[in-house]
Amino acid sequence: MSFNIAIDGPAGAGKSTIARRAARELGFIYVDTGAMYRAIALGLLRRGTEVEAEQELMDALAGSEVSIGYEGEEQQVFLNGENVSGLIRTEEVSAMASASAAKPQVRAKLTDLQRDLARREDVLMDGRDIGTMILPHAQLKIYLTASVATRASRRYKELQARGQGCTLEEIIKDIEERDYRDMHRETAPLCQAEDAVLVDSSDMTIEEVVERIVTLTRERM
Ligand code: C5P
Repeated sequence: MSFNIAIDGPAGAGKSTIARRAARELGFIYVDTGAMYRAIALGLLRRGTEVEAEQELMDALAGSEVSIGYEGEEQQVFLNGENVSGLIRTEEVSAMASASAAKPQVRAKLTDLQRDLARREDVLMDGRDIGTMILPHAQLKIYLTASVATRASRRYKELQARGQGCTLEEIIKDIEERDYRDMHRETAPLCQAEDAVLVDSSDMTIEEVVERIVTLTRERM
């Protein structure tokens, strides 16, 4: 049987960096489910789909096939066969991903793909509803969070390093809005699973968090 690790938490808690490193150390496959939502969002933006118009959304989803593959350890996400990994990290796609992920039709589209991967392989999967909805029987569940101030300042440094101008206040507002939407939506809201281990990374280094996850996994294997 495959060993599954579910890591959930809000935007900017460092999930993907930490999950990628922990997966490498454990020899697990890292599955970034946010990238799948982002790929769908990119498709919706390209088509100019109005997310609130049900039929329009259904039509757009019927024409959007998402799959993933790997280049070395790096997950690549494909939309109708096109590798869109380099196009999904913009603020526009982030906002559309968060808005469209609230729609049950969008979530249903990705559930089987995510469960299938976990059935076949030892995976470390990160997202918002992995421990609560997608893999309720995961052998290890982590709820990874950090204070808004910490997450905003990390994001600020990231954007500055990329030469993208943005104020800290704008980032805080954006993080608070995304948290609110992800936690208060009706379908699969972000919340800590009862049996998840809470890890607050505000005062921890990346290495410390990775070590914690690796140790917890080895204890349960
Ligand atoms: O993790 P990331 O920020 O890339 O995810 C983009 C958006 O996709 C999130 O804001 C969230 O709304 C949505 N998402 C989700 N469920 C997941 C992963 C991501 O709703 N399992």
